[in-house]
Amino acid sequence: MSGAPARRVQPQPGPDELIVARPQGLYCPVGDFYIDPWRSVERAVITHAHADHSRSGHGHYLAAGAAEAPMRTRLGAIDLQTLAYGERLRIGAAMVSLHPAGHVLGSAQVRIEVGGRVWVVSGDYKLAPDPTCAPFEPVACDTFVTESTFGLPVYRWPDAVEVMGAIDHWWAANAAAGRASVLYAYAFGKAQRILAGVDADIGPIVVHGAVAALNAAYRAAGVALPPTRLATEVADPADLRRALVIAPPSAQGSAWLRRFGEYSDALASGWMQLRGPRRRRALDRGFVLSDHADWPGLQQAIRVSGAARVIVTHGYVPVMVRWLAEQGWQAEAFATAYGAEQEDAPAEAADA
Ligand SMILES: [Zn+2]
Ligand SMILES: [Zn+2]
Repeated sequence: MSGAPARRVQPQPGPDELIVARPQGLYCPVGDFYIDPWRSVERAVITHAHADHSRSGHGHYLAAGAAEAPMRTRLGAIDLQTLAYGERLRIGAAMVSLHPAGHVLGSAQVRIEVGGRVWVVSGDYKLAPDPTCAPFEPVACDTFVTESTFGLPVYRWPDAVEVMGAIDHWWAANAAAGRASVLYAYAFGKAQRILAGVDADIGPIVVHGAVAALNAAYRAAGVALPPTRLATEVADPADLRRALVIAPPSAQGSAWLRRFGEYSDALASGWMQLRGPRRRRALDRGFVLSDHADWPGLQQAIRVSGAARVIVTHGYVPVMVRWLAEQGWQAEAFATAYGAEQEDAPAEAADA
């Protein structure tokens, strides 16, 4: 025996992959369902109601209970089954449960367990606190399928409370000068996070119709937001000039803005961390506020998952895969059709 290397236990021939990439989307073979498919399928498990993850045309939808209001706001009459966070549902040979992803109202990570093996598909997520949705829950797994929208070392978010303070300061200064403060923010998620974070005593808050529709979904789900009005509901023009105006990025340059007269404009987005995007869009201000994990946040989520294998989906995929491999993870990529961040895209038609 002496000197002989210890014999390694051969790993069991593993069951099939719990998730594979198919042309329609990420697919779970043993459960015969897709997660956030981009083509029409019979059975779709949806991580959250952003347009690139939650599309119309599927036969049957499964999502977290908190996602119901935003999904119905956007998709109308769909065949939707909901699960409470943590509730388990057997689909074929897979045990499926949904866990908070901290991204937007109702966002979920999908946990799939088959024969003691556990995979988690993150959807979009963030670790930073957000009063408008349930906080990210670390879920232990063997394989973690992670997004990587902001998977570059340059992306490190400032504290969100400080960002809200900067927005308040900008708004108050504009109001004192008789100028409206037009803040572009994605209509679902970002807009409500801002509404919940600003000081509503500074002045009236006016929202674009696209934002109002999602506000109603948040309020229906019990999320407290300050009073907001549509521009058409403001009788006194002086109110418009003191207002914080929240509109989707697609409203920039549109005729809808004329009613506000002179205004200062800004965009709230993770992309505002870089000077280039801010300058290209000719904005007065950029506020760095993202509903995605930054570079340290992605690493933290991957670590706490305990996964030995990580599959990277959308964003800066090769950079993240290389970094993970260098750190000793078994790292791969799935090609997906999710937006390179639809949420902040300049021409987000779906949210106009
Ligand atoms: Zn999203
Ligand atoms: Zn996404």
